Amino acid sequence: MKGKRLLMIPGPIEFTDEVLGEMSKPTLSHVDPQFIEEFGQALERMRAVWLAPHGQPFAIAGSGTLAMEFAVANITEPDDNVLIVHTGYFSDRMAEIFRLHGANVDIVPGAVGDLPEVEAVRAQLEAKKYKTLSITHVDTSTGVRADVKHLAAAARETGTLTVVDGVCAVAGEELRMEEWGVDIALTASQKAVGVPPGLALLVANEKALDAFKARRTSVRAYYCDWQYWLPVMQAYEARKSAYFGTPAVNLVRALNVSLGQILTEGMDFRFRRHTLNARAFRAGLSAIGLKYVPVREDLYANTLTAAYYPEGVDAGVLPRIAEEGVVLAGGLYPSIKTKYFRIGHMGMSDTSEILATLGAIERGLAKSGYAFDAGAAVAAAQSLYKKS
Ligand code: PMP
Repeated sequence: MKGKRLLMIPGPIEFTDEVLGEMSKPTLSHVDPQFIEEFGQALERMRAVWLAPHGQPFAIAGSGTLAMEFAVANITEPDDNVLIVHTGYFSDRMAEIFRLHGANVDIVPGAVGDLPEVEAVRAQLEAKKYKTLSITHVDTSTGVRADVKHLAAAARETGTLTVVDGVCAVAGEELRMEEWGVDIALTASQKAVGVPPGLALLVANEKALDAFKARRTSVRAYYCDWQYWLPVMQAYEARKSAYFGTPAVNLVRALNVSLGQILTEGMDFRFRRHTLNARAFRAGLSAIGLKYVPVREDLYANTLTAAYYPEGVDAGVLPRIAEEGVVLAGGLYPSIKTKYFRIGHMGMSDTSEILATLGAIERGLAKSGYAFDAGAAVAAAQSLYKKS
């Protein structure tokens, strides 16, 4: 690939030429009429990508962790009860942020690679009054995907707000924010949204905004406070300028381009493409004997795969795969960190990227001394694509 390496980690991902081209344009003033138009359009497009026609979008400079705090800080007051569906590393992080903002946090535990049953979550929501249920849509540490639709329904029935950490999911995994009754869904630019790192993105519905407006105490984070950002987002959407903190101009313009590409593809088609690529990719790894961190097939994410190294192979295989042109990520979940690796396949990932990645994994594994039928992974993926 002439020195170019494919970045197939669970974010940042490969970006389109149009998005990268937009990033490289001279920076406009944040009150330039052209930027005002593009920011306004990007906010409208977020609503369409989140499938939240009545939601309030926010786009601010920061990473996904800021997006998490942006949600938590505004709807949480001291002594609020919060329930966390535990799927891995990022649900622990969410619990920590809720605690920092004064919440009493309960956790419905899940084993590594698993997640609690919807019924167990529902039983807990019925046993005690919670203000908020927190779900990580795809836990990037384990590759486990939560059943957001049914978990959000259980929360709605018990009058609980639902916050979805969709950092490794939004614009890749099916999320129908309004139809499913999700109150806040957040992400970061560098994942399936397809923009270099640097934007924290969030859509809140009316119930979440009402919870913010009904606060008895002030928000415990200055930069995160919706009282400053809400008028800014509303102004840009009304094609006017407003200022609180300088917007990340180039990233916002790139976001507008990427969201335009996503909507041109269409959400339903995009969800199906992610599912197909993930299935093809796993068909490949399974054909050469690899096993996955998620314990059941219905838990497998479509945006990334977390697979155990096969017998006799360790993280030393990753630089070998990189030499073959594809950059992958190591493990993240502390108790199994050294035993598995992670491959992102989200955003504009196409058949060729999936096949190239499988080919590089095969060559890396072969160099690490793992015995398998050369070509079997690529053939299995090809055959699945052929049948689809
Ligand atoms: N939540 C999830 C599910 C994530 O995957 C990540 C990043 N890998 C984060 C939160 C944190 O995002 P960031 O690294 O951009 O702060």
